[in-house]
Amino acid sequence: MSDRRNFIKKAALGSIGISTIMSCGEVVEKNQDDNLDNSVKPNKKPVIISTWNHGLPANEETWKQLKKGNSPLDAIESGMKIPEGDPKVRSVGYGGFPDREGKVTLDACIMDHNSNCGSVSFLQGIKHPISVAKKVLQNTPHVMLSGKGALQFALSEGFVEENLLTAEAEKDWKKWLEESKYKPVINMENHDTISMLMVDGEGNLSGGCTTSGAAWKMHGRVGDSPIIGAGLFLDNEVGAAAATGLGEAVIRTAGSAMVVELMRQGKSPYDACKEIVERIYNKHKNHKDMEYLQVGFIAINKNGEHAGYSLRSGFNYAICDEEKGNRMEDAQFKMSWDN
Ligand code: ASP
Repeated sequence: MSDRRNFIKKAALGSIGISTIMSCGEVVEKNQDDNLDNSVKPNKKPVIISTWNHGLPANEETWKQLKKGNSPLDAIESGMKIPEGDPKVRSVGYGGFPDREGKVTLDACIMDHNSNCGSVSFLQGIKHPISVAKKVLQNTPHVMLSGKGALQFALSEGFVEENLLTAEAEKDWKKWLEESKYKPVINMENHDTISMLMVDGEGNLSGGCTTSGAAWKMHGRVGDSPIIGAGLFLDNEVGAAAATGLGEAVIRTAGSAMVVELMRQGKSPYDACKEIVERIYNKHKNHKDMEYLQVGFIAINKNGEHAGYSLRSGFNYAICDEEKGNRMEDAQFKMSWDN
């Protein structure tokens, strides 16, 4: 039996032991009846959602770690290390596309239900920036470390410096150098950060985000992904949101923080993601970035209700829960690439 089928089977078995816990559907129904109470009741069954196809193996690992009793942050870290360490994933960690100077520079962040967060940006030479971000959260008085300082901190924590530019990524970079045209191409090949959001078995939220950022970016460029409020945000009373796509557009609009704020006002994860994508569109429709603009959000609330929505077609996300196991879902979108 394949690992995936095994996983689904185990997930189904796992749910037997907690049959007294209400299903997501029942919790949602209860809240819908309660018109006076805008607060969401915590979901008690874990739900994990992650951006893009590489979210599937990441979810699987995170789920496994969570079921073993590891902490949500440890579970998120373990899951995100899968695409970070996979040289075939060209947009995250080892094997990620380099910047214009052939340097692989990485951004990542992680956040827990108490709003503790850790982040690294413009980090070079460390394969697992998500782990360094977690150490920033745990072992420093700060939220974000950047560049050489982040590397110095990583080394002091025992991380090992290594070359992250694979032969394949180097070949693509050399090909790009022939024309050296800087025009970001936002699509599944070179703009796919992994962002992961989780409601754990206690009904608490946590999340993480890790990326090598836009391919062929300027040296020193940092995107939305390590910025709490842009690439990732959560409020344990409300919900969590994370972004993928053109980081500049997400930073300009404080994207993920706004999605969470709209959920606080009572919007569903779907409506909240859609409204912020609409806002980004309105702010950018006459902007030079519009030609290649893509942004996508995923969001989850305390009920475990979740959604994904993107400006343009092609965005998908992985969902893992006890009822249906681990699977992909295509996100709704505003327009196709022809518009
Ligand atoms: N948001 C990331 C960035 O701008 C890229 C991506 O999501 O693929 O760096």
